[in-house]
Amino acid sequence: MDEINNLVESMKDELVKSVQEVVRIKSVMDEPKEGMPFGEGVNKALMKALSISSSLGFKTVNVDGYMGYAEYGEGEETIGVLGHLDVVPEGSGWKYPPYGGEIHDGKIYARGAIDDKGPIMAALFGLKAIKEANIQLGKKVRIFFGTNEENGSNDVVNYLERDKAPDMGFTPDAEYPIIYAEKGILGFDIVKYLDKDIKNDINIKYVEGGNAPNVVPDTCKCAMQIHDDYIKQNVIDDLKKYIEKTGFDINYDEKERDILFSSKGLSAHGSQPELGENAIMMFLPFLKDINISDDLREFVEFLVCNIGMDTRGKELGIDLKDETGELSLNVGMIKIDSCKAAVSINIRYPVTFNENDVMDKLKSKAESYGLKIENLGVAHPLYFPKDHPLIIKLQKVYKEQTGLEPELLSIGGGTYAKKMPNIVAFGPNFPGKAAREHQTDEYVEIEDLIRNAQIYGNAIYELAK
Ligand SMILES: [Zn+2]
Repeated sequence: MDEINNLVESMKDELVKSVQEVVRIKSVMDEPKEGMPFGEGVNKALMKALSISSSLGFKTVNVDGYMGYAEYGEGEETIGVLGHLDVVPEGSGWKYPPYGGEIHDGKIYARGAIDDKGPIMAALFGLKAIKEANIQLGKKVRIFFGTNEENGSNDVVNYLERDKAPDMGFTPDAEYPIIYAEKGILGFDIVKYLDKDIKNDINIKYVEGGNAPNVVPDTCKCAMQIHDDYIKQNVIDDLKKYIEKTGFDINYDEKERDILFSSKGLSAHGSQPELGENAIMMFLPFLKDINISDDLREFVEFLVCNIGMDTRGKELGIDLKDETGELSLNVGMIKIDSCKAAVSINIRYPVTFNENDVMDKLKSKAESYGLKIENLGVAHPLYFPKDHPLIIKLQKVYKEQTGLEPELLSIGGGTYAKKMPNIVAFGPNFPGKAAREHQTDEYVEIEDLIRNAQIYGNAIYELAK
């Protein structure tokens, strides 16, 4: 509606000022305090957002310090816009102060400017425009200020224990147009307990690689001790042949009786492991073919023969696929010492399948090698049918407001929408713009901020009318 758009335009300065006020508060998770489950900074940001909301004339509610919301309108049903005020640490190397909210070249620079303080304030001002225009809504609207999105979303967990989920809504915490499908995520360890009394010519002191299960590891290190010089020379010769055959970037160094190995790969996000080069899986085939102890060999053999450099789960028979994409598998971390061998795996599976479709096969295969699955965690897929009213309405608004095709996206990652039922990710990043969240020099373009407030105002109206 032009009316909403014009009113947003007229509130531009006030919106910019409000965003500056909230980004100037450092809201990184910290020690809990009384009534402040995620620490003082996060609580200060929540208080600021609620005071801005009430100065705009909205009723506000603070839900135990875990979350707050601004509310407008009456009705049986509730429309929710779910954003968050907590931020990840700023890191170093900023060209402007990370909590300064300075404006340069039409951009507000600050940690949280695009993730997610700017966008949730934009939604608040979109709702303000509806209120200013005296537009009657048939439903209640809540703008949610989450405070724990970056650290487990316990804000939403707490809210759902107190109140029911909105009937429909969106989160301005990803990208445009609309993410209708988010793959399921499985995280787990595959473990073998080793018999440390077994004596072997080649003694593996440790293997260590990767920093997180959901990142493709770019290094893997190993130390082995070999007392027999003849065997030691053979291992080094085998390594040279292996490098020649594969072209992998593996180095070694001799230190007294030890050989220290290190392989180098290429890091990538765990939801797109095919874009990386897995340093762990580069090294393991070499280990498999030298004379290591039998129980460790079983562990290594399982990984090399059933996964290898493949990232789709083909050998395991779990290469699932549907209209939302293919399964992806990342071997993110490895840790072997004298008692235990373990890898951490991260799998993203397409939305029409469930965790058993993946885990049943994987588990029985692993068990046939004497391995165990431990620490299994599941984030279920998110999926809205393409003809769901929420999807249709947001597509209509997006097309009207931007003139762009409201294409529906499927992603391997998980957004805030996964935590709250009936919510879908909608913006704030426009197609073709670089991702800025969690990065140095994070900013929001003021023009985009205003466009977001207009789109969100119209979306709220469309959903709540
Ligand atoms: Zn976010």
